Amino acid sequence: MMILRGIPASPGVAIGRTFLFDTRRIIVPTKKIREDAIPKEIARFEKALIKTRAEIIGIQKKITKEMGSNHAEIFNAHLLVLEDRMLIEEVIGRMKKDRKCVEHIFAKVLDKYINVFSKMNDEYLKERISDVDDVGKRILKNLLGAKEKSLSELKQRVIVVAYDISPSDTATMHKKNVMGFVTDIGGRTSHTAIMAKSLEIPAVVGLEKATTSIKAGDMLIIDGNEGIAIVNPDKATLKKYQTRQQQFVNFEKILVTLKDKPAETLDGHRIEISANIELPEEIDSLIAHGAEGVGLYRTEYFYMNRRGLPSENEQFEAYKKVVTRLSGRPVIVRTLDLGGDKFLSQLEVPREMNPFLGWRAIRFCLARPDIFKVQLRAILRASAFGDIKLMFPMISGVGELKQAIVVLNEAKKELRLRKVKFNEKIGVGAMIEIPSAAITCDLLAKEVDFFSIGTNDLIQYSLAIDRVNEKIAYLYKPTHPAVLRLIKNIIDAGHKEKIWVGMCGEMAGEPGFGLILLGLGLDEFSMSSSAVPEIKYIIRNVKFEDAKAVAEKALSLPTSEEVEDFVNRRLDELVPKLKKIRKSSKG
Ligand code: PEP
Ligand code: MG
Repeated sequence: MMILRGIPASPGVAIGRTFLFDTRRIIVPTKKIREDAIPKEIARFEKALIKTRAEIIGIQKKITKEMGSNHAEIFNAHLLVLEDRMLIEEVIGRMKKDRKCVEHIFAKVLDKYINVFSKMNDEYLKERISDVDDVGKRILKNLLGAKEKSLSELKQRVIVVAYDISPSDTATMHKKNVMGFVTDIGGRTSHTAIMAKSLEIPAVVGLEKATTSIKAGDMLIIDGNEGIAIVNPDKATLKKYQTRQQQFVNFEKILVTLKDKPAETLDGHRIEISANIELPEEIDSLIAHGAEGVGLYRTEYFYMNRRGLPSENEQFEAYKKVVTRLSGRPVIVRTLDLGGDKFLSQLEVPREMNPFLGWRAIRFCLARPDIFKVQLRAILRASAFGDIKLMFPMISGVGELKQAIVVLNEAKKELRLRKVKFNEKIGVGAMIEIPSAAITCDLLAKEVDFFSIGTNDLIQYSLAIDRVNEKIAYLYKPTHPAVLRLIKNIIDAGHKEKIWVGMCGEMAGEPGFGLILLGLGLDEFSMSSSAVPEIKYIIRNVKFEDAKAVAEKALSLPTSEEVEDFVNRRLDELVPKLKKIRKSSKG
């Protein structure tokens, strides 16, 4: 038995056999062949190409059905690689010349292609390396007769072990066969972790040595609440976690009964609990968990994994679908926030030394009003069909916010000229996720209808902690006094200008911090759907007066450790029943 400690990324317990998701290790044989064997090798190659094509189309169909067509777009690029005549003819030509088996020749040609692509100045073509690499490995595996090729094709229920999993790989996972996953790298608020939460797949990231110390087929327990992975557990440990898993499921069942109850404290203070979504498909889960609306609709997933940019009409239809499905519940659509750990392959955005500090989000949109306005018009048009607000990400100060509003007004004007209906009074908000905005939020509050605090970025920028780097993850503390003071400043400034203040960073969904945020007067908490019931339970079982006292005391403590100890103790005292359920769910 071996215990590995990492970062809890998505709650729940998973127990099962492991599947090593490592596309890097393929051993290719180098066999000499006779001249008369060449036609047979060509036939093998063709068969592998046909099989690969059928596989890709199969995955594409499955993903379209399960996750929507946006997520299936990436495979169009893969199909194009597969049809590349130059590549195919080069393989056949070299095989005839070198008289080596097709696997060997194909691997060589593939390497050459990747090499050529990586030396190109064209960023778009550089980004195609991963498509060529992906398809190439798939063809090689088919030539070698290897099994289990991608996360969407898993035939058995497994726990995936990988060095890293990209947000798009996460999107291709299906709960049915992926019981959970662990990775060597990554942080709590990386987008892979966020996707895992929205898919409700238990996950632990940043284990550092997962791929080197876990073997394929090992028995593995992962505890996504505690951030641990136990390799080949003994009988007693296995039993303990089986019980814990069952209790976690029961706990969830209890909490979901709160679904239709309001988020109101014992002394009548009402707040709003919303959910964050990446995909329209998540709305059913949001409603099932009792969220009152969407506090953050991350639209960049709509732009990812596809060729070309989505048109105004396509976006309009998607946003309209979201509001319609929400049947009257409000939704806050965040404008494009590419960059950081979310890259869009179809846009020519150069790689940067510090992508989180780079040309991203609103900075990119203001530099490309052509792209920005298409999205703004689509959101505006959808506002005629339901309760939509829009918000801008990564606002650093009033100047930038005003520039964004100018573009919004232009988009409105264009729609008026086209005589297209939209909500003229659409609510406009700013995400407060850069320290400069948090410090000047008294000025920003005069310009918008609401604030939404993006703690994932606010913490990384104010504490100088890269949110996806597991080595420094221990310093990523939402309860750092600097962060708490910034949050208080934002809420107070918002209230002074009579605008509401929400939070859509992961901090809003952490039960331990609920009391502080409630006590500081946060009006709206937006989180992964699965976190909604527990936060609602806490809100419904405490007094606002008590939460205020907790917040006041927490703000006077000098270290994050002291704040955490204090709030956890107060949570146990004020909501003892939760402690009991949580404790039993921990076994
Ligand atoms: C945040 O930064 O807190 C946030 C909600 O946005 P994202 O995680 O998409 O950067
Ligand atoms: Mg952010």
